[in-house]
Amino acid sequence: MSEESREMTLPLDSDGFLRRECSTCEREFKWYVSRDAEGEPVPVGGYYCPYCAIQAPSDRWFTPAQVELARNTVVRPASMIRTAR
Ligand SMILES: [Zn+2]
Repeated sequence: MSEESREMTLPLDSDGFLRRECSTCEREFKWYVSRDAEGEPVPVGGYYCPYCAIQAPSDRWFTPAQVELARNTVVRPASMIRTAR
């Protein structure tokens, strides 16, 4: 149980929103991140896109910039899943 030390910190914009991109319709939107919601479970099957309503796993919402960031900072890609909680 010592896997949690590899989490990536994603940069939030000035309003405290996280940028997300839908892998289905490729539209970018703002994702509200509540600091109080840490540890909140991800819905079964992942999140729904606010535009096309397609559900995708929680690790499919990174923008190209974030994917690039992850590539440079995260050693194990599997740990990306944990950043979206
Ligand atoms: Zn979409």
